[in-house]
Amino acid sequence: TERTLSIIKPDATTRNLTGKINAKFEDAGLRIVAQKRIHLTPAQAGQFYIVHKDRPFFGELTEFMASAPVVVQVLEGEGAIAKNREVMGATNPADAAPGTIRKEFAESVGENSVHGSDAPETAAEEIAFFFSGLELV
Ligand code: ATP
Ligand code: MG
Repeated sequence: TERTLSIIKPDATTRNLTGKINAKFEDAGLRIVAQKRIHLTPAQAGQFYIVHKDRPFFGELTEFMASAPVVVQVLEGEGAIAKNREVMGATNPADAAPGTIRKEFAESVGENSVHGSDAPETAAEEIAFFFSGLELV
């Protein structure tokens, strides 16, 4: 089975959507094997999203991710990376399919409620960024 890193972003945690979003993951067969609520600093958010450092929205993105607590979690299941991205929906909620998290809950392309790793290598890196070995059973 595969594991992926998921983040419930500030726009969703502040609207008390954690439970509804977790229900979508569990209904899709994804098991939540680790989870914690943290408040990132802008520098930590920038480190996490370092691949986007040259994009025009980088400042907006890191400021948003540090604006309120997030819930970081590890999801496990067969094909977890692809399955999670399917449940999340397209980056821009306007393009997201019906029933996806972003279609139902996201406010804009920036404040889009969830993050999910996009490949096995980034999943491993992102899980290690937030969780220690002791937290991963
Ligand atoms: P994520 O990496 O958060 O799972 P994604 O893989 O669907 O989302 P990316 O292209 O990796 O999308 O962009 C990372 C994040 O940057 C997006 O989720 C969104 O919050 C923000 N972002 C992307 N494009 C824009 C944009 N045009 N304007 C503002 N913010 C954006
Ligand atoms: Mg991405």
